[in-house]
Amino acid sequence: MVEVIGFGLAGACVALQLQRAGCEVRVVDDGGEGSSHVAAGLVNPVAGRNFEPSWEVADAWKIALPFYQSLGEDLFHSVPILRLWFDEKDRLKFERKRELVKPWIDGVTDEGVLWSEGGWLDCPKFLTVAREEFLKNGGELKEAPQGGAQIWCAGAAGLIRGDFPGVEHRSAKGEILTVRIPGWREDRILNRAGWLIPIGGDLYRVGATYDWDHLESGPTEEGRSKVEAILQTFTDRYYEVVDHVAGIRPIIDRSKPVVRFQEGKGWMFNGLGSKGVIYAPRVGLEMVSRFG
Ligand SMILES: Cc1cc2nc3c(=O)[nH]c(=O)nc-3n(C[C@H](O)[C@H](O)[C@H](O)COP(=O)(O)OP(=O)(O)OC[C@H]3O[C@@H](n4cnc5c(N)ncnc54)[C@H](O)[C@@H]3O)c2cc1C
Repeated sequence: MVEVIGFGLAGACVALQLQRAGCEVRVVDDGGEGSSHVAAGLVNPVAGRNFEPSWEVADAWKIALPFYQSLGEDLFHSVPILRLWFDEKDRLKFERKRELVKPWIDGVTDEGVLWSEGGWLDCPKFLTVAREEFLKNGGELKEAPQGGAQIWCAGAAGLIRGDFPGVEHRSAKGEILTVRIPGWREDRILNRAGWLIPIGGDLYRVGATYDWDHLESGPTEEGRSKVEAILQTFTDRYYEVVDHVAGIRPIIDRSKPVVRFQEGKGWMFNGLGSKGVIYAPRVGLEMVSRFG
C-alpha cells in the first residue's frame, strides 16, 4: 500500500498513475483548498518574456495531454495563445529566438506571435473527476495518515510548514479575477505581462499577481487592482468582476518539479510552481517506476 498525502494536481496525478499501474493506493487529504483549486490551468509552451520554451515542455506535454484526455475530453481546452509584442525591441528579440521556438509558431502578425499547443485545463473539474476515478477503482481516501510508504504531495502548505527540513522554497502568492465582458468575442488566450483566458460565454479569467512576501491566504484589494491593470492592457471594454481568488504557488527551483527521498519520512513531490498542469502527470509516471 502506498500512501499519497495531498490531493492537488501532484497528488491526484501520482495516485491515479500508481493505481492504473496496479498499486494499492491510499490518499490522505485534509480538505484544504490548495493552489490546484484556484489555478487558471494555463498551458503555455513558451511562457515568459524571453521566448524560451518551458523546461522539457515537449516531452512533458506528450505525457500530460493524453493523461488528461483519458479522464474526459472536456477537461483540457485547446486554445491558440497570442503572445502580444511589448514593443519593437521585443519583436526583434523574438526574431533572434525564432528558430528555438519554431515548433510552437502558428503564425506571426503585427500584433504578436501565435503559439500552438496551448490551452487551459479546468483544474477544479480535473480534481473532481480524478477523485471519482480513484474511488471507483477501489482507492482509499482518509483524513489522517495511517503510515507505510508515503509520498508527500502537500504543495505550498507543506513547504511553508517545512515538512522536509532543508528544502528551501520561494513560494509565491497569486491572485486571479474572472470577469464578464459583454459582446467582446475574443477567442484566443492573450499573453504579454499577464494573461487573459476566454472560458466561455462572456467570461474571461485574468491574472496573475506574484507576491513572495505575503503568503497568507485570501484575495486582497491590492491584488484585485493589479489584475485589473493587467486586464486593461488587453482591452478598454466595459467589464464586471464576477470572481476573485488567491492561492500560493509551491516554488522550489522555478517551476521545475522536485522529487526527494528522506529516510524515516518518505518521498516528497513538490515545487510545481506556475506550471503544475504541464509537469504533474510526468512526475506521476516517474513515481510509478519507483513504486510500480
Ligand atoms: C493564482 C495562481 C494561478 C496559477 N495558474 C496556473 C496556471 O495557469 N497553470 C499551471 O499549470 N499552474 C498554475 N498555478 C500553479 C498550480 O496551481 C500549482 O503548480 C499546482 O496546483 C500545485 O499542485 P500541488 O498538488 O503541488 O499543490 P496543492 O494544489 O496546494 O495541493 C496540495 C494538497 O495537499 C493538501 N495537504 C497539505 N498538507 C497536508 C497534510 N499534512 N495532510 C493532508 N493533506 C495535506 C492540501 O490541502 C492540498 O489539497 C497557479 C497557481 C496560483 C496560485
